[in-house]
Amino acid sequence: MSPAQPGLVVALDGPGSSGKSSVGAAAALRLGYRFCDTGLLYRAATWLALRRRVRADDPDALVALVTEIELVPDENGRLAHVSVDGVDVTADVHTPRVDDAVSAVSGVAELRAALLERQRALAAEPGGIVMAGRDIGTVVLPDADLKIFLDASVEERARRRAEERGVDPDGSDGRFILAKLRRRDALDSNRDVAPLRPAEDAIHIVTDGNTFDQTVEAVVATVRAAAASSAALAAGEAR
Ligand code: C5P
Repeated sequence: MSPAQPGLVVALDGPGSSGKSSVGAAAALRLGYRFCDTGLLYRAATWLALRRRVRADDPDALVALVTEIELVPDENGRLAHVSVDGVDVTADVHTPRVDDAVSAVSGVAELRAALLERQRALAAEPGGIVMAGRDIGTVVLPDADLKIFLDASVEERARRRAEERGVDPDGSDGRFILAKLRRRDALDSNRDVAPLRPAEDAIHIVTDGNTFDQTVEAVVATVRAAAASSAALAAGEAR
């Protein structure tokens, strides 16, 4: 990245299993950007709350958990792992138990407020960043240089999730995954605080029928186009 193009702040939002985390991480690598998966913060808070028997209606106790949670960079500096008290719990926070409880925990306004500054501080560090979540373009980084809303039909997302878990998408386990994803979509979209919705100025990328690589390519191309036009704008202003 040349000094004239220091990299953009990219908000990458979308529903569960839309591919934000995996696509965002792969796109960030190709772009030379940092990456942050904010869902890990909510998942780790939920995992800890389940372990400690903290209830979603106890905001103070939930907020107290936040200091124990750290995002951990991988070898490329991407924040796609999470640790609690120094132990990597990334796999533990992706269980169906956490999937079922995370929407209730992440609907707690005090918890969201406690995580907000941390997310903003990460985005403010030097260099481009892709930050993935539900409310990045609407709440966390409303002034992001570029907002992308990655979407796919719930059926397609459920099929991908079933394949990841090695179950038949058309069997009873697959139908169960579909029902649970529909429920989480509804909870995330209808909550009072920071509901899942595209920012008005977001670019929608619909990924039904795409391969993983095609979606990564679409995100990379969108970011490069936005970076080129902001560089052209800056050059024009400097003249
Ligand atoms: O993206 P992922 O599916 O890992 O997120 C898990 C949950 O965390 C979501 O269902 C949502 O309830 C919550 N979340 C959120 N805001 C974010 C990221 C995730 O509320 N920015």
